[in-house]
Amino acid sequence: MDALARSIADVGLPHPLLVEAAREAIADSAPETARSRAEALASSLLRPVVNATGVLLHTNLGRAPVEHCSTARASNLEFDLSSGRRGSRQAHAASLLARATGAESALVVNNGAAAVLLVLATLAKGRAVVVSRGELVEIGGGFRVPDVLAQSGAELVEVGTTNRTRLSDYEAAISSREDVALVLKVHQSNYRIVGFTEAVGVGELSRLGPPVAVDLGSGLLDAATPWLEGGPPEWLAGEPAARQSLEQGAALVTFSGDKLLGGPQAGIIAGRRELVAACARHPMARALRPGSLVLGALQETALSYLRRDGRAIPFWRMATTPPEVLRSRAGALVAKCGPHLRAVECRSVVGAGSAPGTEIASFGVALAGDQTAALRGADPPIVARVRSGETICDLRTVDQADDLVLADVLCRLAAGREA
Ligand SMILES: *Cc1c(COP(=O)(O)O)cnc(C)c1O
Repeated sequence: MDALARSIADVGLPHPLLVEAAREAIADSAPETARSRAEALASSLLRPVVNATGVLLHTNLGRAPVEHCSTARASNLEFDLSSGRRGSRQAHAASLLARATGAESALVVNNGAAAVLLVLATLAKGRAVVVSRGELVEIGGGFRVPDVLAQSGAELVEVGTTNRTRLSDYEAAISSREDVALVLKVHQSNYRIVGFTEAVGVGELSRLGPPVAVDLGSGLLDAATPWLEGGPPEWLAGEPAARQSLEQGAALVTFSGDKLLGGPQAGIIAGRRELVAACARHPMARALRPGSLVLGALQETALSYLRRDGRAIPFWRMATTPPEVLRSRAGALVAKCGPHLRAVECRSVVGAGSAPGTEIASFGVALAGDQTAALRGADPPIVARVRSGETICDLRTVDQADDLVLADVLCRLAAGREA
């Protein structure tokens, strides 16, 4: 067993894991499978991949790509360098995000679901939360608004119907009971209700009395996108934004760090100072707090927004690359790898429940047949999709620096077809 494990040392796994692969192979009377077992284990480990799916925020591929370096040094995570006393974990990324959204204060937790849970548990436990029936959504990954409400200890009060909810529906619910703690508005995210519909805006809701919490989900900071030179792209139309929701009177907004914000996985609660402070004091906040790796990456993202430098945020750089640029990159790949590769028009999507139903014009390359398994086996693995019998690599979601990686693998596959 040990000799077999040593013979596959080049797979690069620690010896005990190679021994395990060898033991399983021998137990199955198939020692020749030791290598493939070890390789399968190696490829199950977390590693970078090239996202050629055309889905910019692919939840299975870690949503927004972020670059962040940190050294093995300590940090001033909770230490105030000017006074030398204990500081706050929310003094850096959270305070920059409060500035970027125009909020009085902000708090960072582990993800968007945690942000919603903490807001509800802090402000509405044992009391009523009014929500439109059109917004009792499931976001995916088991996040269902009614279930999260139940977990927080708040009582759900449904108003309106699936397609139409009016201000009078909210008014009736609020005046019929004494214990309404919050009006919750939830972004429908991954689906749209179209046709005979009616919903109530944040402005009107905020004049009803109880504080309004808006679960934005996708984390667009400002509908005016001052970090983009060309202003808001067409596909962003109708996407609710943090700054505008707060201006319209929302007491709190919650959103994810790794959707349209383009940062690491995190959840942000922003809004009125005393409400954010109450969330921070809740015992659950301690269990939901992020570490310095996440806060460091989020701080970088927040600084890029404050510099109005959308190009420094990989998500925005990719999402706003003009189609002509992608067309010429596709042309260059075809020129390099020959006639078995074809430049094709394709349509990218934002993903992660953001801007549902909208597409972004894009270009990519196509290769005949289903080559996705071979692409996944490359180093780094390339994740592509199949459309009408062809494998398509959408270049919008590929960093330009990775065109070389793509060329290397695609040229090999194209040459294989020639042979
Ligand atoms: C995505 C989303 C969430 C959950 O956020 P995570 O960061 O994935 O936990 C919650 N609410 C809405 C409206 C969302 O779109």
